[in-house]
Amino acid sequence: MPTFALRNPFLGLVSLIYPPFCAVCARSIEAPEHLCASCAEKASRLRPPFCAKCSQPFAGAITGSFVCANCADRVLHFDAAISAYRSRSVVRELIHNFKYNRQIRLRHQLGRWLAEALEDPRLAGRRFDLIVPVPLHPARQRERGFNQAELLARALHRHSGLPLGDVLQRTRYTTTQTQFDRSERMENLRGAFRLRRGRNVQDLRMLLVDDVLTTGSTLSECASVLSKAGALSVHAATVARG
Ligand SMILES: [Zn+2]
Ligand SMILES: [Zn+2]
Repeated sequence: MPTFALRNPFLGLVSLIYPPFCAVCARSIEAPEHLCASCAEKASRLRPPFCAKCSQPFAGAITGSFVCANCADRVLHFDAAISAYRSRSVVRELIHNFKYNRQIRLRHQLGRWLAEALEDPRLAGRRFDLIVPVPLHPARQRERGFNQAELLARALHRHSGLPLGDVLQRTRYTTTQTQFDRSERMENLRGAFRLRRGRNVQDLRMLLVDDVLTTGSTLSECASVLSKAGALSVHAATVARG
């Protein structure tokens, strides 16, 4: 772990400009890489077959038509949610350190993984008018010091040149969702988001951004608000699929 970079403010500063160590194992590496070759290899790419809507992977070969267990019996309000990686091993570890251990510089590597989602056939060649980060409640953002989705959306904005718009607002402080099942998550999030005052998304094609998609309930709630406000389409991209 590159914890010395945090203990030594000078090294921390240097690594922001020129990250010379692997973000996972602290082995010396060449910029502009953020991971050594052996840690980069451990990042698990999401491969088909997976659900066309929520990217939930299926074990084994799929023949004929099928319904994804995650999408069954409910409406997800986004057109499709795409992640290039699974939330496993080094991917999961980096997201955790980014979010909960304030290793902000990890946004560079996570932003790269996020950008890979744009190469998916469901997004490639599609035009987007606005990248929208999933908002945190202001109290949660104060507690964490930043909104991880916003930093990732900014990284994607730099990578793609697409406009960035913080058009959503979280109006309800919801308890952490991790212990909830799918239907409890949906219930917990109902009415938690709204369009910021004075923002107009009429006829815009939106790309929602978050760090991880677990059941898709958060992205779906955000997409529902955008659709009701007149957005033409809402796709979603996340760094990883849980
Ligand atoms: Zn490494
Ligand atoms: Zn699905």
